Amino acid sequence: MGRPRSESDRRAGSSGRRRFLRDAASAAGLILAAPAVRIGTGAPRFASDPFALGVASGYPLPDGVVLWTRLAPDPFAGGGLREPVAVDWEVAHDERFARVARKGRALAGPEWAHSLHVEVQGLEPDRWYFYRFRAGDALSPVGRTRTAPARGQAAGLRFGVASCSHYEQGYFSAYRHMAQDALDLVIHVGDYVYESSWGSKRPRLHDAHAAEPVTLDDYRARYALYRSDPDLRAAHAACPWLVTWDDHEVDNDYADDRSQDLDNPRWFLARRANAYRAYYEHMPLRSSAIPLGPDMRLHAQLAFGDDVALFVLDDRQYRSPQPCPRAGRGGSVMVDLEACAELADPARSLLGRVQVEWLSAGLSQSKARWNVIAQQTRVATLDVKPGPGRRYWTDGWDGYPAARRRLLEGLAAAKTRNPIVVGGDVHSFWVSDLAPDPEDPRSPAVAAEFVGTSITSETSYKPEQVEAVVRDNPHVKLGDAGHNGYLRLELGTERARADLRVVSDRTERDATRETLASFVVEDGRPGAQRA
Ligand code: FE
Ligand code: CA
Repeated sequence: MGRPRSESDRRAGSSGRRRFLRDAASAAGLILAAPAVRIGTGAPRFASDPFALGVASGYPLPDGVVLWTRLAPDPFAGGGLREPVAVDWEVAHDERFARVARKGRALAGPEWAHSLHVEVQGLEPDRWYFYRFRAGDALSPVGRTRTAPARGQAAGLRFGVASCSHYEQGYFSAYRHMAQDALDLVIHVGDYVYESSWGSKRPRLHDAHAAEPVTLDDYRARYALYRSDPDLRAAHAACPWLVTWDDHEVDNDYADDRSQDLDNPRWFLARRANAYRAYYEHMPLRSSAIPLGPDMRLHAQLAFGDDVALFVLDDRQYRSPQPCPRAGRGGSVMVDLEACAELADPARSLLGRVQVEWLSAGLSQSKARWNVIAQQTRVATLDVKPGPGRRYWTDGWDGYPAARRRLLEGLAAAKTRNPIVVGGDVHSFWVSDLAPDPEDPRSPAVAAEFVGTSITSETSYKPEQVEAVVRDNPHVKLGDAGHNGYLRLELGTERARADLRVVSDRTERDATRETLASFVVEDGRPGAQRA
């Protein structure tokens, strides 16, 4: 397509590809032999493990959950299968599958890269289950999942928030620790894969020949590479996930049909369709998310008993372009408030009209004690210019202040009970109080926001810069750009607790974990306080 390859892509060269193949093969324990499958009468036989990409579950309901796998005996060469394959699935009360609760058979076909999304029904509420798949003589790893508590059941929720997991920029120790953190649920808020290569420390590499993915095969290969990581597979197998994407699942800083390189929008939407399809194929999503060309409905509302409502937003697919870009470019910039009149344009939207109406209806009808809004960027404003004057980064909600004001005023008007916003994107921790008018420090907070740091991705903030920014932004309770990790939130009956979980070193395979800081949100008192 004549797209320029970045400097780092060129540097990586062909030795990078050989190293990638070796690393990926050893990480997955794969045998890179020619795969073969015999279809027809009798069971298929695979030359290598068709379940090398693992298993996953998602979107727990009181009576069901989505089970996912993808058959790929040769994951880095298109998967290695052509014909449809029948796959048996089982859900059991016990890890040995002695007490099977539900079972069935599904067909994995080439049009969806032999992925399966089984929407299991008829399970009991508020229970843990084990699941596995069988294709021919091959048995998948065992996954653990759970159902949501039913309406009428008061129950808490302990969940993790992950974001920004660049494969090249570190090992996925943070995912391993999530798998061991007794979470009911993981919410991934975007940058699950990265399309591009950059960073000062890169202990491992993408497939250097692929440059940026553009075709469906390119994106499928990128997901296969990420899922070759055993720590990521363990996090998926440990509990159900909810997911939303940010920009890097398609292309840095895109906004609806506008790419940062200002590609022809029709060309870019074709690329987006490939990226969205590969995303669907690799995530434990419901059939409501099946993509249609470049369109895919990802925003979702779930309940966890009477106490918890979860709203998962998509702030990429429908957004207005970022304001005041550099000449001849799309994408984000750092911009001084007075230098960008377009910032204040009330017509600009981050979620799009349909999603805004859906969200405000859901929030105003919710009777939950805790209303969690999971989105990919940062809602809290952050003036990054020390002293007088304001400077904002335009890719997060700071680029869409009118839309943010409508969201926060809506929370206040609907008297939404205990809204808690979680986010990611900025590769650093930010704990903030959210007030409808960020220019008025006396306007009361309507919500607390916890932005989690990256699993591995490098931050562009310097520690001393973060200190200055925190001093200049009184609604910010904590900013930290020195760590990788994730958020753990526990929603109880009187308070919610947020623990900022960090790993010792993203470049170490065996990084250890600790808690950097903890906050609480008291029921009925908007905003976060140090625990
Ligand atoms: Fe990121
Ligand atoms: Ca300032």
